[in-house]
Amino acid sequence: MSIIVDKVFEIIDELEKVRRGIEIVAATKTRPIEDILDVMQNTPVSAAGENRVQELIAKYDAGIKWDFIGQLQTNKVKYIIDKTRLIHSVDRLPLLEIIDKEAGKRGKVQDILIEINAGREAAKGGLFLEEAEEFAERVSFYKNVRLLGLMAVTPLVCAGAELQSYFDASYAEYLKLKECYQSVKYLSMGMSNDYLRAAESGANLVRLGRAIFGERN
Ligand SMILES: *Cc1c(COP(=O)(O)O)cnc(C)c1O
Repeated sequence: MSIIVDKVFEIIDELEKVRRGIEIVAATKTRPIEDILDVMQNTPVSAAGENRVQELIAKYDAGIKWDFIGQLQTNKVKYIIDKTRLIHSVDRLPLLEIIDKEAGKRGKVQDILIEINAGREAAKGGLFLEEAEEFAERVSFYKNVRLLGLMAVTPLVCAGAELQSYFDASYAEYLKLKECYQSVKYLSMGMSNDYLRAAESGANLVRLGRAIFGERN
């Protein structure tokens, strides 16, 4: 067993102590395809999550599942729509509309998450929490798109109580949406530096890069 695979099983053990059934998406930006395949073929990680369209296309291997977790430009949707299990980063109506159109052309229903910018950071994509419900309603108007939940992005710098407040608010919003929409089942929240706390706060999908693959060069 490789070091990377070992690491994934350690993380799974930790997560199972919090709750059963928490899924992992491996955040694969800059990682070589050999390492990605090692993880995807030898562990129960749900998908490889890429940030950039170019990188997803370059690494794409039809034998494994891919998610898209980065900021997505509308004119790039057509390149990834037939390659993605789940798009985590849907945060504006024009993007939603294009995803619906491109999915429709291919006879696909594309699963998506609404991205939430929990810390209201100007440099990050994502809706503010109070915009999520109206956006979710809009999603339900499109027949080639299915809402599976929320992806919450949180500020890196903050610690302790502030981070917890973002997690709690995101979880509360997730529960609200879950009540309204049967398809909602994911709260994608938590990265390498905070995934246990996120899991304890209600996340059922964590996105891990460095915790699995080590620091990026
Ligand atoms: C890179 C990335 C992650 C993983 O970050 P790590 O700190 O390496 O775990 C998660 N989500 C998104 C959207 C990312 O771009």
